[in-house]
Amino acid sequence: MAPAATISFFGTGSGFPSGDRFFSSCLLRFRGLHLLIDAGEPCVHLLENRGSLLRDIDAVLITHGHVDHIGGLPALLQGCMLRERTKPLPIYLPLEMIAPVRAWIDALYLTEEGLGFAVIWHPWLNGEKVEIQGTLTVTPKRNLHLEQCYHPLPRADMARPCDSFSLEIVAGDFCVFFSGDLSSARDLVTLLPTSSKTDAKSVTVLICELSHFSAEELAEVLREASVETLCLVHLSEEYAESRSSLQLQMEELLPEIKDVLIPEDGESLDF
Ligand SMILES: [Zn+2]
Repeated sequence: MAPAATISFFGTGSGFPSGDRFFSSCLLRFRGLHLLIDAGEPCVHLLENRGSLLRDIDAVLITHGHVDHIGGLPALLQGCMLRERTKPLPIYLPLEMIAPVRAWIDALYLTEEGLGFAVIWHPWLNGEKVEIQGTLTVTPKRNLHLEQCYHPLPRADMARPCDSFSLEIVAGDFCVFFSGDLSSARDLVTLLPTSSKTDAKSVTVLICELSHFSAEELAEVLREASVETLCLVHLSEEYAESRSSLQLQMEELLPEIKDVLIPEDGESLDF
């Protein structure tokens, strides 16, 4: 039977520079749709390496404005232009990012008019489901990651919006949940469907970061959730160095989860 979805992990690294891991981006293929989730560097090269995807991707979904999740976007737009894309490109992202990102593109001597295709900027609205081509829905769910990372910085503007989102993507019984970056594993308590909620829906695949909290903290939260497969990405440097023991540890902590996977950069998984 053909898989419902394929997720290609382009970059599974954290925000730390790494010799062997790229920044966050992955490609979700679902019934002919191609969605790029986060646009960390060097997503343009990784899409180019997979055929004509620069012309074909249907939308870009950005979880938040940290550079390891959005830094590859201008090069992606330039690549689409050079590969003569004509199809409009919807980009979903936090509202407060739209004006600065447009100014950034302008600063790089690109003009939206000169790209040769329309860029359609869509702000995420917390909890508001977006339908993509009648094939699936994406619900952005606000988490506390950016607030926690930004507000403690020297001279941070406390009035500045700090929206960062986890994304729930649903089509029928299939549900893939991208944690994005979180402030702590506890963010997931209110974001994930849980067995105690009456509208409980099981998550087919949870793509979860593991650099802002421990494996034990995550396991504690996931014991209450209904998750079939767990994919760990965006590992802290410490976990990245002990991947096989991390996998064993999570399997022991969460025996009810069917599969615990730690994908490599470039790996594609069918679900
Ligand atoms: Zn982040």
